Amino acid sequence: MGLVPTESGMSKGTLGGPPVVVWFRQDLRLQDHAALQAALAGGRAVLPVYVLDDDTPGAWAMGGAARWWLHGSLASLAESLAARGATLVLRRGPSAEVIPALAQEVGAAEVHAGRMHEPWAREAEAVVGAALRHVGAALHLHRTATLFDLDSIRTKTGGIYGVYAPFARTCRALGAPPPPTPAPERIPCPPPPRSDRLGDWGLLPTRPDWAGGFRETWQVGEAAAHDRLAGFLAKAVHGYDTGRNRPGQPGTSMVSPHLHWGELSPGQVWHTAQQAAQETGKGLEVFLGEILWRDFSAYLLWHHPHMPERPLRPAFAGLAVRDDGAELPAWQRGRTGIPIVDAGMRQLWHIGWMHNRVRMIAASFLVKQLLLPWQAGQAYFWDTLVDADLANNATSWQWIAGCGIDSQPFFRVFNPVSQGERFDPDGAYVRAWVPELARLPDRFVHAPWSAPPAVLVEAGVELGRSYPNPIADLPQARQRALDVYRATVRRAA
Ligand SMILES: Cc1cc2nc3c(=O)[nH]c(=O)nc-3n(C[C@H](O)[C@H](O)[C@H](O)COP(=O)(O)OP(=O)(O)OC[C@H]3O[C@@H](n4cnc5c(N)ncnc54)[C@H](O)[C@@H]3O)c2cc1C
Repeated sequence: MGLVPTESGMSKGTLGGPPVVVWFRQDLRLQDHAALQAALAGGRAVLPVYVLDDDTPGAWAMGGAARWWLHGSLASLAESLAARGATLVLRRGPSAEVIPALAQEVGAAEVHAGRMHEPWAREAEAVVGAALRHVGAALHLHRTATLFDLDSIRTKTGGIYGVYAPFARTCRALGAPPPPTPAPERIPCPPPPRSDRLGDWGLLPTRPDWAGGFRETWQVGEAAAHDRLAGFLAKAVHGYDTGRNRPGQPGTSMVSPHLHWGELSPGQVWHTAQQAAQETGKGLEVFLGEILWRDFSAYLLWHHPHMPERPLRPAFAGLAVRDDGAELPAWQRGRTGIPIVDAGMRQLWHIGWMHNRVRMIAASFLVKQLLLPWQAGQAYFWDTLVDADLANNATSWQWIAGCGIDSQPFFRVFNPVSQGERFDPDGAYVRAWVPELARLPDRFVHAPWSAPPAVLVEAGVELGRSYPNPIADLPQARQRALDVYRATVRRAA
């Protein structure tokens, strides 16, 4: 591959010498961006690039909700860059080919990028790095997506952590991550080469337009990410240690898509939250623990790249899952007849996000009571979450299914009714997302089948017509799950 800077390429940098390419990936921001900072430090012109790489074999092609978010995030990034004098170049294709070709086209000898932990992205990094090296150019990778360098966190004997608590202790002992850096005021940019038009990428839904609820819920982009975080730190963080479990209240930060897309860096979240420390106490500590969980998931994926496909505990590969053609669609559509599960799945469809407590309940119902494969649930979440994140999604699904490292034990089966009664005691969450149950009294809203007929009539609920009968008998389904799981573990012993 000919990547030697061309005569014209050599003169494309406005500051003398070839320009430097900054390859934006899952770090769509200007503040606290180590790759951008490093590129600017050389005093060269900087060419910002984003590659839509959605055809690479082995990659998890981005889901619909993620594509919706990406459109807004790139539009916002392009605007911020333009305000600083730079043009975001958009190209489509395998990044392993596009980045080296673009570097050649503009005569760049250096490409700076944030390191990713997804297996296909790491392979692309290796190919790009080799192609650039071949012609005397270089790919420089920086930490932009995690708090810590994932490769450097080791047990005392040099091993890999499989349990969160000691991992978190080791991370915390390393001290706070470096303080975040501000966005550059100006970005000197060479005359930009050809760019695709964002609108031509077809990232937004057309017909049907399912994104109305997304537009009502989310402001996308770096500035909006900071607003969202600031709103949380001003209020909900104070009671986060308990409020985070109440899906009917605004008790969590909802910064997950901003973190996934890198509109916020985890270091910014860490430091901004610390600044609120004096007033917040326990809520803050628990919140920081969740930000570390995010690093732990990335760490697990880094060391177990097959995690989205295969259980980390091999014994569970033989779990006898069921194959019912109707139950998965019922779960996906929020028509299982279990109110808290349906509320969660409808929230997911409507706004591309689901409260963590309800993610756990809905996921547990799928893999335990319905005994369907966790991979099917993971795939649906991947398509429908705006924060769809390969590491967090796979770690969480394996945790729920009991087949990951540091999982909840397989014999723990969430009861969706008692979970609902405990964490949504007034039914506010169910009423918001399952309006056909809104008029039921609190004590029946999580189990409408237990309401006397007169109460159902009074509330306008006709089970089997206005709202489904439960697709699983909860005690029997729990027992079936325990039997199957126990048999699997026994077989493997
Ligand atoms: C089955 C299942 C699938 C999930 N899939 C994803 C996913 O694809 N993407 C994703 O970002 N999260 C996923 N999670 C984790 C968690 O539900 C979300 O991160 C959280 O609900 C996001 O809301 P928030 O920003 O208000 O979180 P907060 O409670 O405000 O937490 C702050 C941040 O900490 C991180 N975080 C919180 N909980 C976890 C966790 N359990 N594991 C790792 N990081 C965490 C997130 O980045 C989050 O934004 C999943 C959880 C389950 C049970």
